[in-house]
Amino acid sequence: RLMSTQATFKASDVEIEFCRTDQLKPKPAVKDLVFGVTFTDHMLEVEWTEADGWGKPKISPFHYFSIHPGAKVLHYATELFEGMKAYRTCNGQICMFRPDMNMKRMIRTAKRASLPTFDQDELIVLMKKLISIDQEWVPHAESSSLYIRPAIIAHEEVLKVEQPRKALLFVILSPTGPYFTSGYNPVSLLADPKYVRAWPGGCGDAKMGSNYAPTLAVQKEAMKLGHAQVLWLYGPDHRITEVGAMNIMILLDKGNGERELVTPPLDGLILPGVTRASLLELARSWREFEVNERDITMAELLEHSRNNRILEMFGCGTAAVVCPVGSISYNGQTIRIPTMEHKQPLTTRFYDAITDIQYGRTPHPWSVPI
Ligand code: PMP
Repeated sequence: RLMSTQATFKASDVEIEFCRTDQLKPKPAVKDLVFGVTFTDHMLEVEWTEADGWGKPKISPFHYFSIHPGAKVLHYATELFEGMKAYRTCNGQICMFRPDMNMKRMIRTAKRASLPTFDQDELIVLMKKLISIDQEWVPHAESSSLYIRPAIIAHEEVLKVEQPRKALLFVILSPTGPYFTSGYNPVSLLADPKYVRAWPGGCGDAKMGSNYAPTLAVQKEAMKLGHAQVLWLYGPDHRITEVGAMNIMILLDKGNGERELVTPPLDGLILPGVTRASLLELARSWREFEVNERDITMAELLEHSRNNRILEMFGCGTAAVVCPVGSISYNGQTIRIPTMEHKQPLTTRFYDAITDIQYGRTPHPWSVPI
């Protein structure tokens, strides 16, 4: 039986049902785009069962799901997702940014979530097809893009807590405007060690919905206290791990004329960000400062702060590319960070380097035409 189950779906098997012209939705103006609110005209779906493996991929008009109230995903969060973008480049092409990296992470997450795996290249071809069908939805505007949300849910209608025997992979698309609507301003963070996002042996390094729901109340508390994001700490030594749903990077003055870019290592607590990996690769290729993936604690950060050695700090991720940090509230004190007060912040240089690649101003193999 194992031999006959489909270990992957095939892009060449895709069945396409196009919208009728009266089903096509009007596209909002770029200035009205709010992240994750508007969706395009079509979506992709592929069904999986333990008995038969993957079915045929289907692209069809965007629609609601009809789901059994006992579906596992609704009770036990048997779900995973990815987040990536397509950009309209200055050459008139539409490109994705390093889709292979998101697919590798999606397959790693699937293994951790006991959800089915597949051939990543087949999903890339299918996403390209879906985007090309809805290509008019890729905004014609600088710093806007089409957000791509692949996900897998276990929708099997059995309440028993056990490995799912049915799943649905789907991809939806959402046009998104600039992340920084009111300018590129440094944000303040709440670092409260009583909240923990991930722990050794857990799944903080996998992109599953169950990692995100518990963070919402903490984010709400941070905002109530006047902060934009949560700085997630871990362990008795208050190690810095991530910021909100972004990886974190810190530029330090080593005091001997040298600088060091620090980001926490991929030790199981941290989501391996595509932006993080890309910035590390760029920084290492520049050879202008030390680049280290190492632990950094709040005690070390406070020490550097006392010596004026923290130059910059920023979150990095697909949504914002980089998000400058201006201060951290920790144990009743405020640590000020002069991220954007330098003549040429590294944060801005990173932003420019990545967006130049994404929007085609710098030709680069990371930018993949659909
Ligand atoms: N950390 C977390 C917890 C995230 O959800 C994300 C967004 N996927 C990131 C980091 C940044 O990852 P990426 O650069 O791949 O968007």
